[in-house]
Amino acid sequence: KAQSALPISAPTSLLTPIKVPQRLLMGPGPSNASPRVLAASALPLLGHLHKEFLDVMDEIKEGLRYIFQTNNSLTIAISGTGHAAMEAAIANVVERNDKVLVAVNGLWGARVFDLSSRYGAKVTTIKKPVGQVFTLEEIEEGLIRDKPKLFFITHAESSATVLQPLEGIGRLCHKHNCLLLVDTVASLGGIPIKVDELEIDIVYSGAQKCLSSPPGASPISFSPRAWDKVKNRKTKVESFYFDLIQLANYWGVDDQPRRYHHTGPISSFYALREGISILCNEGLENSWRRHKENSELLWNELQKLGLELYVKKKIARLPTVTAVNVPNGINWKEVATFIMQKYNLEISGGLGETAGKVWRIGLMGYNCTKENVQLITAAMYDALQQQRQGSV
Ligand code: PMP
Repeated sequence: KAQSALPISAPTSLLTPIKVPQRLLMGPGPSNASPRVLAASALPLLGHLHKEFLDVMDEIKEGLRYIFQTNNSLTIAISGTGHAAMEAAIANVVERNDKVLVAVNGLWGARVFDLSSRYGAKVTTIKKPVGQVFTLEEIEEGLIRDKPKLFFITHAESSATVLQPLEGIGRLCHKHNCLLLVDTVASLGGIPIKVDELEIDIVYSGAQKCLSSPPGASPISFSPRAWDKVKNRKTKVESFYFDLIQLANYWGVDDQPRRYHHTGPISSFYALREGISILCNEGLENSWRRHKENSELLWNELQKLGLELYVKKKIARLPTVTAVNVPNGINWKEVATFIMQKYNLEISGGLGETAGKVWRIGLMGYNCTKENVQLITAAMYDALQQQRQGSV
């Protein structure tokens, strides 16, 4: 150890290289990144304005247009996790005193409510009990009642594991002169979504779920209608980091030379590029089918163990994250801990209103395989046996 006269010395824990365990992450995210993605993120750094790096960014833009099924030229990745993309959406589209209507049926609507209020919006809600989805009639009632400029809804509500049908919502919003913002963090790549066909104006996602990448670079897309709203703002975007006018330039979307706005997170963009590339190789429809088939297999296997699924209607269940009711007399935390200790496998508990009531099991991206369904089924069986014998 080097001698030092400094009053604060380097922590001993940092005198050796980092070590972390290998785990199978089958909670609601992050999921394991594909080894090909991890290899990409270990590639040498480039300058953030080097041509070769700008080419990587261009590939991300093109790949995301395929994955979102959109022709929106403003389809980029935000430097940050899903929350950063959520915040970028609100920061750009919302001006002080704008009316925003938020569909709340779990944690994510509540988050967007909070975020929009911080940006000075007048926020109202339509609410459904956790675990239920919204009908077009309920949405239209809200649009007529509150006359919002922006309506938010979550496609895959990962805290309650329900799937919101999106058909018709875009048309409805446009009929009432309102933009549609959709959260697809827990669905993009794993559940069918066609952004242009659905007339979605702003859509964002995350990297660490069905895109098999580490968290840190988050896809987002703005329709020409949403882009117009940003360009015609009366006031500057209140966040410098998320200012779309600046980001559009850095991503080469406007017709000016690209300028420095912030240093792109080089390795995160490599990783995202590779995750997108894997999806392009597989084909979106095949990925959607794989998620559907493996989740249905998981549901059957869990039900064979005598477990009940939290979302009763099959059509309303997420194929990416499944909530399972914790049976009476079983301690959810002990089960999750047992599975972690014995199998090195993570499943999680509920979140928000589902906390303590369910386990959540993720089957996303690289992790969504038949083998993993079999493994988690065996691990659950083992853990429940242990609980019932009272020996956990
Ligand atoms: N929306 C949904 C539906 C999510 O599942 C998550 C992540 N659990 C987020 C938003 C937030 O993303 P992040 O944790 O990457 O910031």
